[in-house]
Amino acid sequence: MSNNCLFCKIIAGEIPCDKVYEDDLIFAFRDIAPVAPTHILVVPKTHITSTNDLNESNANIVAHIFVVARNLANELGFADNGYRIVNNCGGDGGQTVGHIHFHIIAGRGGGGMF
Ligand code: AMP
Ligand code: ZN
Repeated sequence: MSNNCLFCKIIAGEIPCDKVYEDDLIFAFRDIAPVAPTHILVVPKTHITSTNDLNESNANIVAHIFVVARNLANELGFADNGYRIVNNCGGDGGQTVGHIHFHIIAGRGGGGMF
């Protein structure tokens, strides 16, 4: 847990959230300001500040997050219609919370090739 980290406080239960999934490694909850009908944030329980702080030792968490995202897409019913998985890194990347997170965004329509 990193002091004064919003998402560490959510994981610890110190700040309420709308939780959708939790296991030993990761935690998922609904974004407080959704940009689409489904907008979920998936975060590692271990504090990693951003993509800049990934390395060969801790990056396995990213693969796990993607597999859980895929499972949530199936369970919540938006796998077939499709979805976005978005990571913002740093100031110019639009990151506003300094605990690495992946947005799962679905239900908005996208006009893609599928
Ligand atoms: P980013 O801009 O990629 O850093 O994304 C941070 C996200 O966290 C934004 O989409 C916010 O709406 C979301 N957010 C901020 N505070 C909370 C909160 N207390 N509970 C849930 N989501 C939050
Ligand atoms: Zn944190």
